[in-house]
Amino acid sequence: MDCIFCKIVAGQIPSEVVYTDDRVIAFRDINPMAPVHLLIIPREHIISLNDITERETPLVGHMVQIAKQLAKQQGIATKGYRVVINCGPQGGQVVQHLHMHLLGGRELSGGLG
Ligand code: AMP
Repeated sequence: MDCIFCKIVAGQIPSEVVYTDDRVIAFRDINPMAPVHLLIIPREHIISLNDITERETPLVGHMVQIAKQLAKQQGIATKGYRVVINCGPQGGQVVQHLHMHLLGGRELSGGLG
């Protein structure tokens, strides 16, 4: 599987992992857009939000729960943060493995692009 995030899951390419469990891992974005910029991804190769069915809905809920937990751990929970899932070319998705961005640590613009 030629997927960069699957390689991170497998430990085949280095990343700064901040959280891991049996379903997801979270690591620092290599090109951070904010002082805190983490990516939360499923271990399973799911391409995008378009591929989420009822079967994966609990997994996405778990990703949200981990984002909340990591926001607290990173010290940005009180001031606030943003959670983003880009989907497809017009949604700005570059890596074809479902991922949730957790951004915070600075004032984020009110715009959504
Ligand atoms: P997206 O545009 O939503 O597909 O976001 C993909 C994100 O993955 C970007 O913010 C990239 O900076 C990040 N990224 C790509 N390769 C790596 C990597 N090897 N380690 C950490 N983050 C990465």
